[in-house]
Amino acid sequence: MNNRVYLDREKTKYKGNLHLHTTWSDGSLPAVQVVEAFKAKGYHFISITDHDIYARTEEFNTVDFVTLPGMEKGGLNQVADKNPGYHFGVLNDPTADSELERFEHLEQFPVPIPWVGDHSPQLLIDEMRAHGNLVIFNHPEWHLTRFEDMVKYDGFFAIEIYNHATEWSTTSSYGAAYWDHALQNGKRVFGIAADDSHEHDPNWRIHEYGGGWVQVQSAALNPVDLVKSLKQGEFYSSSGPEIYDLRVVDGKLTIECSPCKFIMFKSFPQRGAFLGDFESGEPLTQASMEVDKDMQYIRVECIDFAGKVAWSNPVFVSDLLQGGE
Ligand SMILES: [Zn+2]
Ligand SMILES: [Zn+2]
Repeated sequence: MNNRVYLDREKTKYKGNLHLHTTWSDGSLPAVQVVEAFKAKGYHFISITDHDIYARTEEFNTVDFVTLPGMEKGGLNQVADKNPGYHFGVLNDPTADSELERFEHLEQFPVPIPWVGDHSPQLLIDEMRAHGNLVIFNHPEWHLTRFEDMVKYDGFFAIEIYNHATEWSTTSSYGAAYWDHALQNGKRVFGIAADDSHEHDPNWRIHEYGGGWVQVQSAALNPVDLVKSLKQGEFYSSSGPEIYDLRVVDGKLTIECSPCKFIMFKSFPQRGAFLGDFESGEPLTQASMEVDKDMQYIRVECIDFAGKVAWSNPVFVSDLLQGGE
């Protein structure tokens, strides 16, 4: 089995939010104030993803803060004006050629999009990709998405596994079960935590800003390197804890994290390890488990004493078996 480093404690990680709204759609703050709110919270990058209107906001970029062009594309409901519907995160991919012209700043899209059958979501995903974007399957739990959709549809590079605004408003924010369903069925998709902040004061004590984010291990803070790392899964998601390091050495997967109550290795088809110092309640800052070559994938969740979670991306075991034992 090959050794492999997924997250390296020595490498810089950049904190970002890939899902949020401004007055360009139904958010209450203008983009300039949203940028300031995330800067003040220590973020390195954001993508402004308003509903059905594309944002290119390079004017906000500085040496220590970057905005990635994007949008949230929705307007696709099987039954008009009723959930369940579909929302896809759309993120400009500067590392790939685009078949069709890239979207322009404040380019607007018609809503609703007519439902033309079960393949409607796929048509939308394909269209977004043809214009040079990555696609994220947004808030499946909140949107009452069927688990089978994770397998039926293709071409999204990640699933939103934690959406803070729907936690804030309806406590239906977790997509990890959808993620496992996709992974169990052989999909290579990553998990993304995000705010989806809309309209609330960034300084409220019960907050909508800064509740879910990604930490991207990237060569530098610029759109090309960030997106390159996102596409390779070189990041983790969090609503609180930090993951410092994740690697496989001599057949053993080890994670290092900020102090946590539990560390869970979620794998399939065999169950992974679940660790906690149950007797003393002392925090854990690292854990390991043997990789079984018959496992499809292993991903790790680090859960802190407040119940907040950091999610690693999956280790695909077949990658570790390539070119040898
Ligand atoms: Zn949405
Ligand atoms: Zn949204």
